[in-house]
Amino acid sequence: MNYRDLGNTGLKVSEIGMGCEGFSENQYKNTARMLDAAQEYGINYFDLYASDPQLRASVGKALVGRREDFIIQAHICSVWKNGQYMRTRDIREVRAGFEELMTLLQTDYLDVGMIHYVDSLCDWETIANGPVLEYARELKQAGRIHHIGLSSHNPEVALEAVKSGAIEVLMFSINPCYDLQPATENVEELWSEKNYAKPLVNMDQERQELYELCQRRGVGITVMKAFGGGDLLDEKLSPAGKALTPAQCIHYALTRPAVATVLAGARSVEQMKTSVAYETATEEEKDYALAFAAFPNISWKGHCMYCSHCAPCPKKIDVASVTKFLNLAKAQKEIPETVREHYAVLPHHARECIRCGACETRCPFGVSIMENMKEAAEIFGK
Ligand code: SF4
Ligand code: SF4
Repeated sequence: MNYRDLGNTGLKVSEIGMGCEGFSENQYKNTARMLDAAQEYGINYFDLYASDPQLRASVGKALVGRREDFIIQAHICSVWKNGQYMRTRDIREVRAGFEELMTLLQTDYLDVGMIHYVDSLCDWETIANGPVLEYARELKQAGRIHHIGLSSHNPEVALEAVKSGAIEVLMFSINPCYDLQPATENVEELWSEKNYAKPLVNMDQERQELYELCQRRGVGITVMKAFGGGDLLDEKLSPAGKALTPAQCIHYALTRPAVATVLAGARSVEQMKTSVAYETATEEEKDYALAFAAFPNISWKGHCMYCSHCAPCPKKIDVASVTKFLNLAKAQKEIPETVREHYAVLPHHARECIRCGACETRCPFGVSIMENMKEAAEIFGK
């Protein structure tokens, strides 16, 4: 298992994380089995948004004696009311829900306290200027949560939250189809047939800006919906009209800037194994470039997807990384020091490019790689 920095939190998280789908309400045994398997495979990060008290109690019981082995991202504002899951901003309910969560989990801290499901700007304003964010800060100060996070499907909201400096972790829905769609307050719109009826060109600018801003600000992204709820794995259900494999979906998410872990939804150990297989997959198995290039109706022409399909370069330049740092640098007037440092430690730099053109013949998206290398060499001075 590979581990990545979760932004600037200081946490090292497994690049394959776990959603809470496999934790079952009544069957503590299943939950314990999922955590056993996670440990066996090196998964140290999981998300817990579900609010069912029985489910939370199962997780708490399964964690006894191994709390320290896991980095837990659990949600505040997700509560259980009248026998069902509810999202709330009522501070009395939020406080009571958090206390119950901690009791049921049998722990005295969360690694990341996620402000749950913020998909509208108005909701974000209420949170940022009201008691919910204040409460999250109070919990952090008391050491009961170590980092403040926020979960969202809306890049506009997520951008505001990241710009505010209030959050250190962002849980965001990332997959190649969502990435084509503009911001919306209704997550259903991201999958709506009418939005895929017309030709789609390139990634939504705001999403690109979001990932790049997170990278520059050191906000770690944890990914939900990498498989589009499973639809992307099925040709008949995928809005792209072609099926992808789990390894391709995971690789796509992990190659976006700032992404630290993919919370691969797994209802069983078998499904978890499928996601963990990413760790031993070959470069060909992970490569999503040709699959994307074959999507009917969707084009990423001229846009670098950081897929590395253009490798190998005779000068050993990592074109995907150079291009990622180039885009991060270009998005700002001044190059952020962290971007400059990350570029500097690459083993080979753009200036080494001999303009042989081999990479361009392999890029399925028609990216002007030689021009990009020239620009990167100028901007970074090497
Ligand atoms: S230049 Fe093309 S092949 Fe290379 S990483 Fe970018 S999109 Fe992929
Ligand atoms: S054109 Fe430059 S970056 Fe591309 S393969 Fe040749 S040397 Fe490498």
